[in-house]
Amino acid sequence: MKISDILADGRLSLSFEVFPPKTDASFDSIRSATEEIATLSPSFMSVTYGAGGGTSRYTLDIAKNIKESYGVPTLAHLTCVSSSKATVRERINDIISSGIENVMALRGDIPTEMMDTDRSGWDYTHAIDLVRELRESGADLCIGAACYPEIHPESCDQSEDLFYLKEKVDAGCDFLTTQMFFDNNLFYNFLYKARERGITVPIMPGVMPITNANQIERAIKLSGSFIPQRFKSLVDRFGSSPDAMKQAGIAYATDQIIDLFANGITNVHVYSMNKPDVARAICNNLSAIIGR
Ligand code: FAD
Repeated sequence: MKISDILADGRLSLSFEVFPPKTDASFDSIRSATEEIATLSPSFMSVTYGAGGGTSRYTLDIAKNIKESYGVPTLAHLTCVSSSKATVRERINDIISSGIENVMALRGDIPTEMMDTDRSGWDYTHAIDLVRELRESGADLCIGAACYPEIHPESCDQSEDLFYLKEKVDAGCDFLTTQMFFDNNLFYNFLYKARERGITVPIMPGVMPITNANQIERAIKLSGSFIPQRFKSLVDRFGSSPDAMKQAGIAYATDQIIDLFANGITNVHVYSMNKPDVARAICNNLSAIIGR
């Protein structure tokens, strides 16, 4: 099933993101975590693509398993920046032949040591190159891309970020998923500005439940997200008690999701990070709201 059809359906739902194993040794444990999440019947599950393509094979293995064994639609992420055209074409063919109908077209992070190199000879410099290639393949794929309510760290300002976002969407995206944010007002402002720029595809908010104090530092480093005082207080009060922090982090994410649903969003994407207990707790908190 295509994600564009899921988003058009209008029912309130949650989707979950998982990441593939980095080594053969962790494959079985990660597969079983993703299977547990699949039993919660999310609207779909997305499977990330390892930075630099290191775990590319597993992205499809996990996505196929969830789709075929649990009937949950899957979205396979694909990055392009440090890959050759031949490699990306091979990956696209693998996705098509595996029967996965949804692809998240991403640039990927530029490795630090390559930040200052001349990119003019690269096969791919931005996600738009991958979106175009996926469209040119002629395959009947639903294509998603990333967007940033708090602007991408490499952008000068929001106006520039939205300019390139519009260009990326016009190249053939069916939907967008946001970077995580902890203040819903940032998302609402972004949504308003994106619509004002003529970006009309569905924009799915991404929410990350922070369940331990160390995760916050990593999450901010990765996303540059603004942390509201309300969230800081929660970490100050409960950060040193793992069980209390987990409960508080799940409650905070639940609160964000309820507010998003109340303001007209129909599907929230949860960065569940291979944690079935967290995904389950959120589903339980929202059982009457999402009708389960
Ligand atoms: P782009 O769309 O190329 O944008 C990157 C920057 O370039 C932005 O500043 C943009 O404004 C600018 N830009 C875009 N087009 C142009 C242009 N034509 N000319 C000049 N500037 C331009 N990373 C992974 O490695 N694996 C994953 O699975 C993964 N999944 C993700 C899922 C989501 C929902 C999000 C939000 C991010 C994900 N990432 C993932 C991280 C992502 O790869 C990085 O944030 C990366 O730095 C940017 O990727 P992008 O696809 O947004 O790039």
